[in-house]
Amino acid sequence: MTSTENKDSVRGTNKSSEKSFEIMRKFSEAYAKRTGTYFCADLSITTAVVEGLAKHKEELGAPLCPCRFYEDKEAEVKASYWNCPCVPRQERKECHCMLFLTLYNPHPGDRQDLEIVEVKYEE
Ligand code: SF4
Repeated sequence: MTSTENKDSVRGTNKSSEKSFEIMRKFSEAYAKRTGTYFCADLSITTAVVEGLAKHKEELGAPLCPCRFYEDKEAEVKASYWNCPCVPRQERKECHCMLFLTLYNPHPGDRQDLEIVEVKYEE
């Protein structure tokens, strides 16, 4: 599926395909369980981050962190520093997207599975 088709996917405007979203949802749940981290109490944040990862995986072939600005996304994917789980998360347990929270972060929830909530995105 091309990014043009994704723009108005059956899931809504500016969203990934169902398949890509499910891949990243399963990855996020498995990683949270493996690392003892939790999703945010506000699941719209978690849903939006998983959506961003899914779109990047679909468009770039890798789940580049969706919470940063990049001059050149393809170069960033090759560098792999910000491919999820990024180096700051792996080395220092830092997830600035608030996807994988420890109990020491603000707003940790108690879930490691994602109840998807409806989030609408601007074009
Ligand atoms: Fe993934 Fe790192 Fe972005 Fe968190 S900050 S969503 S671990 S890439």
